[in-house]
Amino acid sequence: MFESLSERLSGTINRIRGRGRLTESNITEALREVRIALLEADVALPVVQALIQRVKVRAVGQEVMKSLTPGQALIKVVRDELTNVMGAQASDLNLNVPAPAVILMAGLQGAGKTTTVGKLAKHLKEKRKKKVMVVSADVYRPAAIEQLKTLAGQTGALFFPSESTQKPVDIVRAAIDDAKKSFADVLIVDTAGRLAIDAEMMAEIKALHAAVTPVETLFVVDSMTGQDAAVTAKAFSDALPLTGVVLTKTDGDARGGAALSVRYITGKPIKFMGIGEKPDGLDVFHPDRVASRILD
Ligand code: GDP
Repeated sequence: MFESLSERLSGTINRIRGRGRLTESNITEALREVRIALLEADVALPVVQALIQRVKVRAVGQEVMKSLTPGQALIKVVRDELTNVMGAQASDLNLNVPAPAVILMAGLQGAGKTTTVGKLAKHLKEKRKKKVMVVSADVYRPAAIEQLKTLAGQTGALFFPSESTQKPVDIVRAAIDDAKKSFADVLIVDTAGRLAIDAEMMAEIKALHAAVTPVETLFVVDSMTGQDAAVTAKAFSDALPLTGVVLTKTDGDARGGAALSVRYITGKPIKFMGIGEKPDGLDVFHPDRVASRILD
């Protein structure tokens, strides 16, 4: 991910890097190129506008114009603001509630929810020494329940079985009881996704949210979906009190726009990024490192 964006930006960056002097018109020209590169990388328009505006205000100020190396100073401002738009700091899962801490997964079908449940189970077990139980409330796709069962086996998580004849709310209530009896620290709830946002699906996940009062409600979004990622993010964040985002498939050739848009659109931190299909294909999302990858 980000290859095409960093390629586009590297020309601009190299042109300004060594400059001993920058005029307002040089800056305006450079920022125009940055703006085009961001739009071409599928960053949502309001995000591009806000970002460029913030860079511009700082760029024509003392920090850049009076700097001994103004080119470098401008690059630093762009880097800072790219980092800020993605959330400034890495943000961990909050498990600070009486056990079991419930994590609810939301997102469209194919976004990578079930795969991410397996990855999170592994992460919580290995990095935070938690006993994890997983459950699927996807009663529309029996294959999804089986997929989760397999992942639980691979990652050493407890698996709470569910049937496609049950009601999602009943499944998750029973899973919470079982998690308590099994002394699980965390219960991760996988949910059904549709190919597009629809009212029925949103009503169901809202009901699930009300039934389990999760400490984390994670929106899982496919970074390959470009501009659509911003649209989906807005719909889910309007419907649910999200606590964070997982950006999947960043190992693919996505142009990077989703990473730069989704935090701004939802106001919620990107907590993890998917970097492969396997259970270990998950990284904590570090906005500063991602910004460096975009600019270097
Ligand atoms: P769900 O419908 O949201 O539960 O999506 P799945 O978990 O079934 O994932 C859909 C597809 O995306 C599967 O083929 C996964 O292997 C793949 N996938 C999920 N996350 C990643 C990722 O981070 N990288 C890659 N390359 N593939 C992923």
